[in-house]
Amino acid sequence: MNKVKKMEILGDSARYDLCNYGNYNTDNFLSGKLPGIYNATTGNGDCIPLFKVLMTNKCSNDCRYCVNHSAHDFSRVEFTPEELTSIFLDYYNHRLVEGLFLSSGIPGDVDVSMENMVEVARKLRFEHDYPGYIHLKILPGSSYDLIKRAMSLANRVSVNIEAATSEGFEELSTTKTLNYDIIRRMKWIKRLMKKNSNLAPSGQTTQFIVGASDESDSDILQRVDWLYKKMDIKRSYFSPFKSMKDTPLENKIEPNPKRTSRLYQADYLVKSYGFDIKELVFEEDGNMMLEMDPKYTAALSNMEMFPVEVNSASYKELLRVPGIGKISARRIIESRKQNVRFKNLEELKNIGVITSRAETFVKLNKSYQTTL
Ligand code: SF4
Repeated sequence: MNKVKKMEILGDSARYDLCNYGNYNTDNFLSGKLPGIYNATTGNGDCIPLFKVLMTNKCSNDCRYCVNHSAHDFSRVEFTPEELTSIFLDYYNHRLVEGLFLSSGIPGDVDVSMENMVEVARKLRFEHDYPGYIHLKILPGSSYDLIKRAMSLANRVSVNIEAATSEGFEELSTTKTLNYDIIRRMKWIKRLMKKNSNLAPSGQTTQFIVGASDESDSDILQRVDWLYKKMDIKRSYFSPFKSMKDTPLENKIEPNPKRTSRLYQADYLVKSYGFDIKELVFEEDGNMMLEMDPKYTAALSNMEMFPVEVNSASYKELLRVPGIGKISARRIIESRKQNVRFKNLEELKNIGVITSRAETFVKLNKSYQTTL
């Protein structure tokens, strides 16, 4: 099979592995362009095209959501490290892509597959002096030494956790285990990064598949919180389960698209605003309300904390107010140093507060802005 055909198959197979949230959309694989080009958004909002591909779609694992699961009888192909390196460099030298995101199926010994990926990165760095971005997926069950080598070559690495609990994980695969194949590898990565900050300097990330197992938002967010605290995970990505033909889960209902948006919002509250998981509101089934964003729901269920006096509240208290984000909270605190006191909603609006959301929850110089 020629390289272009292989690229079509293996570039397409990589599309469900996320490397950023803002762009979760399989259309980000630029249609009409060469296969394998994926638009990713960086932390500061820049959009960069990545070359995103699998080394192979051959796999001996049985992940029930995945089109590459071992029992699926379809066209299987693989790249050698030399082929993949040369295709990537073609794309890169023609300025079609600015970085590489590489993953792989696992046809047999996981270390053979991981070694092939590491070899691509080694060739790029040492034979072609490639200075750009490399994200290597750490395959479940990979050995310590290969992980260390991958981290010495990649900017970022990730191990996909897929499910939050051991029970949820077991629903998805019988050939991998959460604690041994995933968490143990995350621990090694964390330890290696602590020992040497040059290893994978952009840190490790992970991905959940939301809705593939019967886990609730509460299960997922508790695990996310644990990952941030215990594994130094930089980002968690939430990939909505897609029911794919010829997989054991092809008839499973896909989650409401709003569910992953709510998870990202809650994740942001925990990671960036310092919310405790206990502050979030879950319904009886452990899921968040789809109709309202989690910060608003949390505020409504903790009305005893409101209204907040804008001119004296702490940064933490301001961040709990719907309509006040990190930038506007900082501006409010900074203004106090110049003895500025906010007198009305218009003044808050001018510094970026979304007053239509905030007015129910704030007081300005002791006067409550609205009634519920
Ligand atoms: S390990 Fe699982 S998710 Fe990855 S390619 Fe194989 S079957 Fe698919």
